[in-house]
Amino acid sequence: MTRLDGRAMAADISATVVADVDRLRAAGVEPTLAVVVPTDDGAARSYVRVIERNAAKVGVRCDVHEPPPGTLTSLIDQLAADDTVHGILVQTPLPAGTSATDAGAHIPVGKDVDGMNPESLGRLALGLPAFAPATAAAVLEILRRADVKLAGARAVVLGRSPVVGKPAALLLLAEDATVTVCHSRTLDLADVARSADVLVAAVGRAGLVDASFVRPGAVVIDVGTNYTETGVLGDVDAAAVEPVAGALTPVPGGVGPVTTMLLLRQTVQAAAPPVS
Ligand code: NAP
Repeated sequence: MTRLDGRAMAADISATVVADVDRLRAAGVEPTLAVVVPTDDGAARSYVRVIERNAAKVGVRCDVHEPPPGTLTSLIDQLAADDTVHGILVQTPLPAGTSATDAGAHIPVGKDVDGMNPESLGRLALGLPAFAPATAAAVLEILRRADVKLAGARAVVLGRSPVVGKPAALLLLAEDATVTVCHSRTLDLADVARSADVLVAAVGRAGLVDASFVRPGAVVIDVGTNYTETGVLGDVDAAAVEPVAGALTPVPGGVGPVTTMLLLRQTVQAAAPPVS
């Protein structure tokens, strides 16, 4: 079984991001990501620290904003109008009463580097240029880097959230995979999953995916990040699945590091002057 090492892939990607940042800086552009943290949440704060650390490594400026209650959308509007800001990430959880759809709609599509604007998802569905949520983009990036043939492959995505499951399914479909999307009401989940050549687990249930979900030789991408008493666990029971799968992403060290690096790559792409 191949262990798909997200940290090594992120390190590879970072080399190209650094080169692009150098080019932009030489042209007088400082690629800048605005990270908006509207609520006080431990997991969100630690993820933001990871973004800041990686941004510093590749030379992307990262400004963290903590809007006072009631000012989230006016802050996003301000960042949207600021030409020195190229990417905007609004970190969940959002304040009570604010939906991700409403907040995301304030992010211009060109600065929507984590695909939160509903228009970005619509554009993805139509095959038009848009930034995908970085996690969904990471799923595809890992499959591409692992040379997994997607055209004609049977892909099963467990989870249909707008940040992971749905955009991952759209991206797989765009690569000509035959895609099935599962959710909490799916019947015979393990049977459906076992039909997959490529299985993407994004449900948020530690260890849900056991050997009965995996066709021998299947490529399994574990998006799950579940904080438990025994540490961070994926949605895949790795010990059970490893003898069956052809390839598997570990948790931690799989999708997570690639996601962070793609968020920065998308920021750099957003900062690049339009090609004429
Ligand atoms: P979410 O919004 O809670 O969505 C979970 C999805 O899983 C829903 O579609 C839900 O179905 C489905 N589901 C829940 N329990 C299920 C079950 N027992 N059987 C089948 N389907 C089930 O979560 P999310 O934001 O997509 O995140 C999913 C996981 O990915 C979480 O562990 C999260 O921490 C992780 N994540 C990781 C990254 C990263 O960069 N590594 C980024 C984002 C998220 P319904 O639609 O029917 O409710």
